[in-house]
Amino acid sequence: MSTAPQGSGPARRSNGDRPPRVVVVGGGFAGLAAVRMLGARNVDVLLLDRNAYATFQPLLYQVATGGLNPGDVTFALRAFTSRYGNARFRRVTVTGVDADRRRVLTDTGDEIEYDYLILSLGVTANYFGIPGAEKYAKTIYTRKAALEVRDTLFSNLEAVDQNLPTAVEPVVVVVGGGATGVEMAGMLAEMRTSTLPKTYPEIDLDRVRVVLVEMTNDVLGPFAPDMREYTARELRERGVDLRLETAVEEVHKDCVVLSDGERLPSAATIWATGVRADDHLSRWGLPQGRGGRIQVKPDMRVVGHPEIFAVGDVGASTDGPLPQLAQPAIQGGRHAATQIIRLLSGMPTEPMHYRDKGTMATIGRSDAVVQFPNGLKLTGLVAWLAWVGLHIVQLTGQRNRLATLANLSVRYLTGSGRLNVIVGDPP
Ligand SMILES: Cc1cc2nc3c(=O)[nH]c(=O)nc-3n(C[C@H](O)[C@H](O)[C@H](O)COP(=O)(O)OP(=O)(O)OC[C@H]3O[C@@H](n4cnc5c(N)ncnc54)[C@H](O)[C@@H]3O)c2cc1C
Repeated sequence: MSTAPQGSGPARRSNGDRPPRVVVVGGGFAGLAAVRMLGARNVDVLLLDRNAYATFQPLLYQVATGGLNPGDVTFALRAFTSRYGNARFRRVTVTGVDADRRRVLTDTGDEIEYDYLILSLGVTANYFGIPGAEKYAKTIYTRKAALEVRDTLFSNLEAVDQNLPTAVEPVVVVVGGGATGVEMAGMLAEMRTSTLPKTYPEIDLDRVRVVLVEMTNDVLGPFAPDMREYTARELRERGVDLRLETAVEEVHKDCVVLSDGERLPSAATIWATGVRADDHLSRWGLPQGRGGRIQVKPDMRVVGHPEIFAVGDVGASTDGPLPQLAQPAIQGGRHAATQIIRLLSGMPTEPMHYRDKGTMATIGRSDAVVQFPNGLKLTGLVAWLAWVGLHIVQLTGQRNRLATLANLSVRYLTGSGRLNVIVGDPP
């Protein structure tokens, strides 16, 4: 069944009987930026996502460790599109594209017609074929996954406290020393020293360990060498057992096997080694490059498909891929929307010029690293305040900004160290 507004023939560009339709697949950083840009323009915008909400991934590690609630970092996509008179939302999983007929294919069997298509699907965890990783390791890439980590961690602490047969030695292994792994390990180490002694006084702290495993000789690869050294030192001081030049070779339900032969117990193995495009994308008939990213020209149009744009984590320009971060996604979404407006006005497209605004990663309370393109670098409290401020501003919706500010303030400013963690059903 087609959901084309009129008829079921091939899509038409703006021809007087209806405004052109732009379909945006994926309501993440890139998709939302595109919809914002197209709002109030003379186009019909249809945003599609498999979830009814957008997720602010950079703060999911706070959800996984009980500092924030899932609702603080998610925003209803219908509420978002309702801000614009020309935009609508539909919850559906996209399963492919029929580029010749300009249709998006969906899991419900519906086909959705478009004049222009923006693909902003994001990516998923890359397990690099490590045995057991996909089955047993956990990620913090989605709201559901972050909650699963939270339930696993705190349910296990309850089991350890009662010496239940289901209890696993309270060791958390974080795999991958990029920003996600560093932030997660730093937060867990902080909980170990500030929260656990108060909330789980019966558990011997020496048994609780946070191990960060990284196969290269450094953490935070894209950062300057002094920032990487600073981060490694700070993590160790905070109690993280940092294993550099070590790889995880196997993941089991309650342990991991390291490249040096050690078999580490693990109550939760958190996978943060990098990302790749979802496998199903290979069946969409679009050109793919490294990591499965869709190949786009410098104007962000998919090679061979001038009506389709691919932006954010899922798109990579043949001119050189942008980093898979929020800023390139936001700027890519805006760029695709601007090019559609240009094309509809009879103007040619322009190449995308990415403006690097800097990179940051937090290590724990009052500690972060920030690096600007002009060479300015910040560490410690100033960097951390910049990190907190930026993340709160970037959230979608006033309610989420206020809730996050309140919850992070309780976590970091009151010094009580007691988290109001709600442990769900044991996973
Ligand atoms: C844990 C974590 C921490 C991070 N921290 C930072 C940080 O501190 N700073 C930073 O700059 N970046 C950070 N990133 C990276 C940043 O979140 C991503 O680069 C950014 O989200 C990419 O935006 P996007 O719009 O391309 O994709 P996403 O934000 O991933 O959005 C993709 C959307 O597409 C939807 N979707 C996917 N497949 C389908 C389908 N088949 N049908 C329908 N809908 C679909 C998804 O549900 C999702 O809503 C982090 C990422 C993670 C996972």
